[in-house]
Amino acid sequence: MAEKISAVKGMNDIAPQASAHWEWLESQLRTLMQRYGYRNVRTPIVEPTALFVRGLGEVTDIVEKEMYSFTDRLNGEELTLRPENTAGVVRAAVEHAMLYDGGQRLYYMGPMFRHERPQRGRYRQFHQFGAEALGFAGPDVDAELILMACDLWQALGLQGIALEINSLGQPSERLAHRQALIDHLSQHMDVLDEEARRRLHSNPLRILDTKNPAMQAVVEAAPRLMDYLGEASLAHFNGLRAILDAHGVSYRINPRLVRGMDYYNLSVFEFVTTELGAQGTVCAGGRYDGLFEQIGGKAAPAVGWALGMERILELLKAQACLPAVPVPDAYAVVPNAASMPIVMPVLRQLRGMGINVHMHAATAQGMGSMKSQFKKADGSGARVALIFGADELAQGQVAVKPLRAPEGEAAGAQTLEALSALAQWGPGLRVR
Ligand code: ATP
Ligand code: MG
Repeated sequence: MAEKISAVKGMNDIAPQASAHWEWLESQLRTLMQRYGYRNVRTPIVEPTALFVRGLGEVTDIVEKEMYSFTDRLNGEELTLRPENTAGVVRAAVEHAMLYDGGQRLYYMGPMFRHERPQRGRYRQFHQFGAEALGFAGPDVDAELILMACDLWQALGLQGIALEINSLGQPSERLAHRQALIDHLSQHMDVLDEEARRRLHSNPLRILDTKNPAMQAVVEAAPRLMDYLGEASLAHFNGLRAILDAHGVSYRINPRLVRGMDYYNLSVFEFVTTELGAQGTVCAGGRYDGLFEQIGGKAAPAVGWALGMERILELLKAQACLPAVPVPDAYAVVPNAASMPIVMPVLRQLRGMGINVHMHAATAQGMGSMKSQFKKADGSGARVALIFGADELAQGQVAVKPLRAPEGEAAGAQTLEALSALAQWGPGLRVR
C-alpha cells in the first residue's frame, strides 16, 4: 500500500456529523445578518502580502510570525493566505468604490490561516465569521455591532459570555500615551520578559496585553490610555456606553484591552468566556477609521468584529446548545438491486414532494441482507423504512415500517400521506 498522507498540522477536516453543526451555526448567522441589513461579501483567500503588512502593521504578531506567505513560482508575486479578512474586505470596498453613495454593511465567513502553535481553540486553519460596517462614523454603529453579537448569543442559547470594551483613542492621543508608557516600563526592565523588551520601542501598547503573570503588577500600574483621550474620543466612547446602557447590556471597561492589529482606533471590544480554557475570546473587534487610507483608499470610518467559529462551536457543545443533527424522513430498503428501475422513480417522486429519502445502495460487498439493510435504516435515524420487497413490488405496493416511536408517528403519517398521494398518480404503487 502507498504511504498515507495526513492533513497539515493544525488544519482540520470537518466530518459530516460536525459539519451539520457548522451549517446550523452558519444559517443562524445569516438570519441574524439579514435582521440587521448586513450583506454577504466574498473575497479571495489569497491576497497580496503588502495588504496585510500595511493593513495590520509590521510589528504585530500576525505579520511578524504567523503569516503563510510565499512567492508565486510563476510570476514572482508576493502572496499570503489571509490571516484575517478585514483588510481584504476594505481592499474590495476600495477597489469597487463600494462607498460611493454611502455606507455598506457587510459580512463574510471562511477559513483564515495563521502559523500559530496548534492547541485547543487555536488552529493554523480556522474559520471566522465577520461583520463590517463601512463608512459609518458614529458610536451607534459600534453599538449595533455589539448588540448584534449579544443577539447571537441569545439566539444560540449561549450564556456567560462577558463583554469587555475600551477606547484606543486616536493616533495622536496614543502617541502621547506611548511615551508615558515607555517611561514607565523602562523603569521595570528587570521584570519585562524578552518579548516585552523587544516591543518596548516598537509596539509598547501590546505589552499591556501580556499574559505573563510576572509582569502583571507592572502592567497594572502602567499609565492608562483612557487618561490621554481628548474630548471627541471620550464623547465617542460615552456615546457607545449610553446606547449599551439603554439596552441593559452589561460590560466591563478593560483599560488593557488593546487588540492585535494596528488598525484599530476608538472603540475596541471582546466577548470572552471562562469555559474554553486559555482561548477564551470568542468574538473581537473595534473601529478602524484609518485602514482605508492605509491601504491606499479614500479615508472612510469603519467598525467591525470577527468571531471564531471553532470556539463558538466548542462553547455550544460545552453548554449543550447544539441541535440534533438532521435525519432523513425515510430509508428505502431494497432487497434486490434489479428492482431499482421501479424503486428509484418512486423515491424521486417522494423527494419532489419534499420528503428526504436515503436509498440503500450496494457496496463492494453487494446489497447486503434484509437484516443488515434494516440495521442501516435504523442507524440513519430515518423515521420510517420503505420496504420494496419482491412480494410488495409484485403487488405494486411498498410497505412502510415506522422506525421511531412516538415522534416517528407524525412523520410516518406524513410520509404515508405522501405515499398515498403518490399511489394515485404514481406508478400504481399502494401503501401497506
Ligand atoms: P487570540 O488573542 O486568541 O490570539 P486574536 O486577537 O489573534 O485572538 P482576532 O484576530 O481578533 O483574534 O480574531 C477574532 C477571533 O478569531 C478570535 O477572538 C478567536 O475567536 C478567533 N481566532 C483567532 N485566532 C484563532 C486561531 N488560531 N484558531 C482559532 N480561532 C482563532
Ligand atoms: Mg492571535
